[in-house]
Amino acid sequence: MNPYLDDDLITLGEHARRFASERIAPGFLERDSTRVLDRTLMAEMGRMGFIAPELPEEMGGQGLGCLAAGVIHEEVARADLSLSYINLLASLNAQILSHHGQHEVVAPWLQRLTRGEALVAIALTEPRGGSDAANLRLRVERVGSDYVINGEKTSISAADQADATVVFGRTGTLESGARGVTALFVPMDLPGVTRNRFDCHGQRAIGRGSIFFENVRVPVSHRLGDENQGFVQVMQGFDFSRALIGLQVLAVARVALEETWEYVAQREAFGKPLSAFQGVSHPLADFDTQVTAARLLCLQALWLKDRNAPHSSEAAMCKWWAPKLAYDAIHQCLLMFGHGGYDRGPMEQRMRDVLGFQIGDGTAQIMKTIIARTRAGRDAVPA
Ligand SMILES: Cc1cc2nc3c(=O)[nH]c(=O)nc-3n(C[C@H](O)[C@H](O)[C@H](O)COP(=O)(O)OP(=O)(O)OC[C@H]3O[C@@H](n4cnc5c(N)ncnc54)[C@H](O)[C@@H]3O)c2cc1C
Repeated sequence: MNPYLDDDLITLGEHARRFASERIAPGFLERDSTRVLDRTLMAEMGRMGFIAPELPEEMGGQGLGCLAAGVIHEEVARADLSLSYINLLASLNAQILSHHGQHEVVAPWLQRLTRGEALVAIALTEPRGGSDAANLRLRVERVGSDYVINGEKTSISAADQADATVVFGRTGTLESGARGVTALFVPMDLPGVTRNRFDCHGQRAIGRGSIFFENVRVPVSHRLGDENQGFVQVMQGFDFSRALIGLQVLAVARVALEETWEYVAQREAFGKPLSAFQGVSHPLADFDTQVTAARLLCLQALWLKDRNAPHSSEAAMCKWWAPKLAYDAIHQCLLMFGHGGYDRGPMEQRMRDVLGFQIGDGTAQIMKTIIARTRAGRDAVPA
C-alpha cells in the first residue's frame, strides 16, 4: 500500500517494470562502454507511451498525471539511470515547450519527443559557473525577426546526442540579472552550432558536453515565454524535474538494496548467513528506512504538482536528499559484496551514475538555499 499510488498507477508501474527488465536492463553495463543512447529503445519507449505521459493527448502524451510520469521514470531508472534521462529530459522540456512555446513551432517537436524520435537538451550552465545561474552571459541579440546567439553552454546532458535544446541567454544588461534572460528553442542542426563530449565518471550513455554557438540565428517564433522573462517563467519547470530526479536515483538505490538483502541472506561467514550479523543487517535496515521515506517525499511532490499546489521546497528537498542518500546506500551495498563489489559491474556503475545528481540540476547547497527562501523569506537568505 502506498498513499500516493492507486491501483492504476501500480499496474502502470508493473507494466513499465516488465518492459524495463526485458528491454533496458540487459544493455545496462554495455552502454557504459559504448556511450550511445539506444535510439531504437527510445522509440520503443515512445510507442509504449512511456515518454512524457503527463502531456495532454493532443500534444502527443497520454493525459496522465505527473505521478504517472514518476512511476514510469523510476522503473526505467531501476534498469538504467542513463536511459531514464530520456524520460527526465522529455518531461522537463515538454512542460517548458507546451507552456511557453509558440504552438506552430513546438507542436511537431512535442509529437517527436513523446514518440521517442527526438531528444531535447536543456542548456543553462556556462563555463563561468552554474550555481549562480541568473548571472549567465551567453549573448542573445535581436536582429530583425531573428535572435542571434553567441557563446558557450557547458556540462549539458546529452549535448552531442540531442536534436534540439532549450537555451537560456542574456538579452538584457548584466545588471538586470534574472530579469534580462530569454529562453529560446534551438534545433541543433542550425548553422553555427557545434558540440563536444566529456569523459564522464558515470551516466556515460547519456554523457555531457559543451555546446558552442557562433552567430546562430533562430526566428523570434522560437522564443519560450517573454523576452527577458525566460529565467523567471521557464525555470519554474525545474520543480518537476527535481522530484523526478529524486525518484530516479532512489530507484537505483532500491534495486541495489534488494540485491544486497538477497546476497547477505545466502552468503555465509563464521558459519552463519551474513544477515545474521547486526553489523551487516542494521546499516541496510537504516538505508532501507531512509530510502522508503525519501521516495514518499518525491511522490508527495508530484502529488502536489498534479494538484497545482506549491511544491518548490518539497522538490528541492527531494533533489538534495535523494542523490546523497542513494549514493551512500549504494556505497554500503557495494561494501556488503566484499571484494566482488569492487569489480567493474552493476554496483560500482550505479554508484558512479547516481553521484552526478549531487551536482547536476543544482547542488545540495543551492537546494537548501531554495528551502530556506521558502521558509524564511527571500530577503532573509543571502542568495
Ligand atoms: C551529471 C551532470 C549533469 C548536468 N546536466 C546539466 C544540463 O543538462 N544542463 C545544464 O545546464 N547543466 C547541467 N549540469 C551542470 C550543473 O547544473 C552545474 O554543474 C551545477 O549547477 C553547479 O554549477 P558549477 O558546476 O559551475 O559549480 P559552481 O557554481 O562553480 O559551484 C561550485 C561549488 O560551490 C558551491 N556553491 C556555489 N555557490 C554557493 C552558495 N551561494 N552557497 C553555498 N555553496 C555554493 C556549489 O554548491 C558547489 O559545490 C550538469 C552537471 C552534472 C554533474
